[in-house]
Amino acid sequence: MNKKLLVLSMAATLGLAACGNDGDNGSNGSDGKDWTAVNQWYVDGQKRVTQAADISINNQAGAAKNIILFVGDGMGVSTVTAARILDGQLKGNTGEENSLSFETLPHLGLAKTYNVNGQTPDSAGTMTAMVTGVKTDVGVLSQAEGVTRGNCASTQGQDLMTSIELASIAGMSTGVISTARVTHATPAAAYAHSPERDWESDADLTAEAVTNGCKDIAAQLLDYSYGSGINVVMGGGRRAFIPNTMTDPEGKNGKRLDGRDLTSEWTAKYTNSAYVADRDSFLALDPTTTDHALGLFNSSHMEYDYDRITDGAAGEPSLAEMTAKSIDILKKNDKGFVLIIEAGRIDHAHHAGNAARALHDTIALSEAVRVAMEKTSTKDTLLMVTADHSHVFTIAGYPTRGNPILGLVKGNDSSGISAVTNSTDANGMPYTTVGYTNGRGYAALDNGGDERYGLPIAAGRFDLNYVDTQSAGFHQEALVPLESETHAGEDVGIFASGPGAHLVQGTVEQNHIFHVINHAANLVIKAEAAL
Ligand SMILES: [Zn+2]
Repeated sequence: MNKKLLVLSMAATLGLAACGNDGDNGSNGSDGKDWTAVNQWYVDGQKRVTQAADISINNQAGAAKNIILFVGDGMGVSTVTAARILDGQLKGNTGEENSLSFETLPHLGLAKTYNVNGQTPDSAGTMTAMVTGVKTDVGVLSQAEGVTRGNCASTQGQDLMTSIELASIAGMSTGVISTARVTHATPAAAYAHSPERDWESDADLTAEAVTNGCKDIAAQLLDYSYGSGINVVMGGGRRAFIPNTMTDPEGKNGKRLDGRDLTSEWTAKYTNSAYVADRDSFLALDPTTTDHALGLFNSSHMEYDYDRITDGAAGEPSLAEMTAKSIDILKKNDKGFVLIIEAGRIDHAHHAGNAARALHDTIALSEAVRVAMEKTSTKDTLLMVTADHSHVFTIAGYPTRGNPILGLVKGNDSSGISAVTNSTDANGMPYTTVGYTNGRGYAALDNGGDERYGLPIAAGRFDLNYVDTQSAGFHQEALVPLESETHAGEDVGIFASGPGAHLVQGTVEQNHIFHVINHAANLVIKAEAAL
């Protein structure tokens, strides 16, 4: 390029950058100031490149002592974007410029989430891909595609080793955390093998499953026999661990028909072990003297973070608190650890059509990742944050900068100034920025997310003129009426830092995640050496 052209193109670029800047420094350029020094977009963009250029990644196989895999269940790209904006707005800013903790990790790729027999996947098939390196069918937990869903007889020879099992065999410590039931698909795929994700307790088993010797998921967790056993399990799902004749501290009955109390079996099985059922007992857990901790904080799923209470029998720790305590327990092992942490309820709030709770749970995940980033070093810990699949959740219209992300769309006027009135549709009605392609649709509840299931499906447009769409009880409109909002089939992000993070690049199959982890920590090699 000749010199004159280069200067011209630079001027054009910098001129454009000025237009992108929120209207401040409007007279710069004509007063002889150096744009590259005064335009914040330019300065920030340049700084990020300099930071990226400074990052050196350890390419050595096996360089990662520790592995932490965060999974935001249902946390598609639109959910990450909207949660970033809400988080920024809750801090009093316009929001769009904010970053969630994991968005600052240096490496990013996209995962293709489809299952072997599903264009749009479920959590069982997707988590199996992430923890075993093999894609499988919808509904199947850590068994290969040769199985028939729900058929025990078909599972012969189909079990796949998981990263948690390999780590246990290798003498590393292991942990599985979820805000959903710990027997729910995503956490279960880490330690259980089943042709049916719904076999959470023995009460869920079919006659065929019993006849052919298939075991329920909670029992598999207790009967886990690799290495020194799973060290930390925390989340919801108490009911699958206690008999149906037993009542838990929150007054809920167990589900087990075989009379086993797996919570007391846990403390009997392991030395230096503990079982906790509420946040107060959780806080009292001493990580220096506890080697095996089981925390079951709810009969079913833990509460949405928005509804979480902290005291008494119903008190629950946050995902960040569970992450911190788990790392403190696991890091005592010189051989390192593998820890899998699921924000399980982003998915559930989306299914109910309640964006507020989905976004608050995504922010809670961001806080948990921040804690993990602070408590570990990028020198020896591979940290990955991803989702199992997306949801049909959209950010739409032309809202002005800083418009409340849960609010009605207010655009700009022809001069680019924020309009005073709401944007309206073809029928003159206002509409929200975020919404769903399908699901139960509109409801303006006083509060509550899953309470939406108790009301009729109401798809299509409603008059939102006098509705507080930013209230947590608001359920967004949906186009196609369905029993429950669905997963979406587009790719999800994989954010990564630490040894092996550079292997997260491009658009990859979801099972790539296992292979990155295996390369970074030499899991198979270490497990084979230990056998
Ligand atoms: Zn789901």
